[in-house]
Amino acid sequence: MSFKFAIIPCLSDNYAYLVHGNGKTALIDAPEAKPIQDYLDAHGWSLDEIWITHHHDDHIGAVEELRSGTVVRGAKADAHRLPELDVAHEDGDSFEFAGSEVRVFDVSGHTIGHIAYYIPDESAAFTADSLMALGCGRVFEGTFDQMWASLSKLAALPPETLIFSGHEYTEANGRFALTIEPENPALQKRMTEIKEARAKGEATVPSQLSEELATNPFLRAGLQRLNRP
Ligand code: ZN
Ligand code: FE
Repeated sequence: MSFKFAIIPCLSDNYAYLVHGNGKTALIDAPEAKPIQDYLDAHGWSLDEIWITHHHDDHIGAVEELRSGTVVRGAKADAHRLPELDVAHEDGDSFEFAGSEVRVFDVSGHTIGHIAYYIPDESAAFTADSLMALGCGRVFEGTFDQMWASLSKLAALPPETLIFSGHEYTEANGRFALTIEPENPALQKRMTEIKEARAKGEATVPSQLSEELATNPFLRAGLQRLNRP
């Protein structure tokens, strides 16, 4: 990995992310301008690109305030309800950022037109409200089948992939996960670590896909329930 990643807590429980490499900086989602701008100023970075995952206000609210001079990317399917896009993406697109390839996946379910951004060179996927740490986004606009197809796509990425999701929901997600798989030792261990991290006010993102495969009930829904009566 040669890029730097910054996790920026915004609003009550959102995360924005900055990716910085080769002198270029991209922002993934813009919940709130001030914490993002403060981080940029403190590090002497300026925004080159903004990558939007989906249309909800808590992901796009500060795009207009931050966009001057930046390339704004988002889903073509959502162009009518996103800030004006400089580049409108479809599933399977790829583009170059700071010398690395970025792939775009449609991960609809939470909304129709939700996309994820994957940087293979960096083993990093920005999944926002599709795949989340120990959970997934609520299915508001899509169907459960659509969410399952989206999660399956992400589950097929290399297991070392880091999952940068959109919210700090991990502890609540974990409480639910334990009702589904109370006997899963990997989940029990992870939940202990999550509680410790949250008690110290630390972020529980990014998580590694391998951990999600071992503990996230929404990725494990296709497994046989061997441990249950
Ligand atoms: Zn959302
Ligand atoms: Fe959200």
